[in-house]
Amino acid sequence: MTVHKNLVAGDWQDGARAKENINPSDISDIVGEYAQADGATVEAAIGAAKAAAPAWGASTPQQRFDLLDAVGTEILARKEELGQLLSREEGKTLPEGIGEVMRAGAVFKFFAGEALRITGDKIASVRPGVDVEVTREALGVVGIITPWNFPIAIPAWKIAPALAYGNAVVFKPASLAPGCAWAIADILAKAGVPEGVFNLVMGSGGVVGSALLDHSDVAGISFTGSVETGRQVAARCAARLAKVQLEMGGKNPFVVLDDADLDTAVNCAVNGAFFSTGQRCTASSRLIVTEGIHDRFVDGVVSSIQALKVDDALAQGTQIGPVVDEEQLVKNLEYLEVGKGEGAKLAWGGERLNRDKTGFYMAPALFTEANNSMRISREEIFGPVASVIRVKDYDEALAVANDTEFGLSSGICTTSLKYASHFKANAEAGMVMVNLPTAGVDYHVPFGGRKGSSYGSREQGRYAAEFYTTVKTAYTAP
Ligand code: NAP
Repeated sequence: MTVHKNLVAGDWQDGARAKENINPSDISDIVGEYAQADGATVEAAIGAAKAAAPAWGASTPQQRFDLLDAVGTEILARKEELGQLLSREEGKTLPEGIGEVMRAGAVFKFFAGEALRITGDKIASVRPGVDVEVTREALGVVGIITPWNFPIAIPAWKIAPALAYGNAVVFKPASLAPGCAWAIADILAKAGVPEGVFNLVMGSGGVVGSALLDHSDVAGISFTGSVETGRQVAARCAARLAKVQLEMGGKNPFVVLDDADLDTAVNCAVNGAFFSTGQRCTASSRLIVTEGIHDRFVDGVVSSIQALKVDDALAQGTQIGPVVDEEQLVKNLEYLEVGKGEGAKLAWGGERLNRDKTGFYMAPALFTEANNSMRISREEIFGPVASVIRVKDYDEALAVANDTEFGLSSGICTTSLKYASHFKANAEAGMVMVNLPTAGVDYHVPFGGRKGSSYGSREQGRYAAEFYTTVKTAYTAP
């Protein structure tokens, strides 16, 4: 099998060894072999990025637009093929995979446009005869570290703004899903990204990711992943005063009030909690439901998830693909025992499933009679598991929704303008959804959270400039 190589200084390079990328729907299917970089390769990639950064930072907006627009066009043109690759390596269904690829293409096109729209300020000085200008400049070398659950969209929404604002990139994708990352590198290389401006270094977090964190030539790190790793990333960046941006986990609440439209509530909950196998940082894992609609809502969710087809991500009609790997599946099953032990009632699902092909299949699981102190309500499970928490009214629902160490996405289902408006203003989250699932966002507006979910400035949309640029204030006297 051909080994997919790392891209360093414009050269495709072998790694110290190679690692197999396994299809979670069918563990006999090897998606590909991917080179594993060592410390010396990371050092070379950072050196190449450092050498290339000044010229790329001084390139014209037109050059950056042309590159990013071409990459976006290519990704969109290959959406079926890349969507298949994504579903094969990560396990989300083919429509979800293609949807994610289209999002990545759109993100590159959005930031192509942003390269043309970099602005500054000219401000009247408080001193006579002095001019003040505020401009944005690239940081220099940016390290990008991504998780496996959105293997093309998250790399896109970090790489595209990094390049648009004139930075050179060293990109370390997740070990579980390097295929889409390699495809982006290949597309960038073929689109003519100058040597060293974009480097791909695949390999473990402990070796490759770690080397990026401590290197004095890496001016900033943009990280998405778990809180546990994020804390280490933040501490190590802070130790050398490097810029850092973290997007991490969630324990996202979805509130359902008595006045909600039942079908909307059930559809939003099932989509938010279980689609993409629940492996979304924005997944609705706490369903907080008022007494008057509670039983009808639970019945609706149970009958809806009983009908979901769990199977091979690439098979026609599959609605829920496999869990990403054995380790995550075991963790999900352990949480089911934790929930039962804590006194929650398993209303449906939760068992390991066998399908024609050997993979990591699991029935979506719904707990009822949960409360917000249970571990299943406080810790991110990151699988197709949700809990229903019964509350008496809106005030209690809001209090429970906000009683969490996370703050990524918060949803409410109601026909009341009063409660919808109050919730939008008072939910302690970076994103609020009214009559929509907690997961599923636009690509051109800010994405991120509060409290333990995020740290540093927002990603996506115009707000991405905050991380990928540094501001300069220049004073000129005649
Ligand atoms: P993870 O284990 O924290 O890994 C994330 C990335 O960090 C991977 O590339 C990993 O490399 C790397 N890494 C691990 N140890 C490192 C170290 N010591 N130094 C530097 N890098 C290191 O997270 P994951 O399991 O891939 O992703 C799931 C998590 O991501 C969930 O918590 C989910 O909520 C979160 N997430 C958040 C968002 C958001 O925007 N808020 C979006 C998606 C996912 P390896 O792959 O080699 O281990």
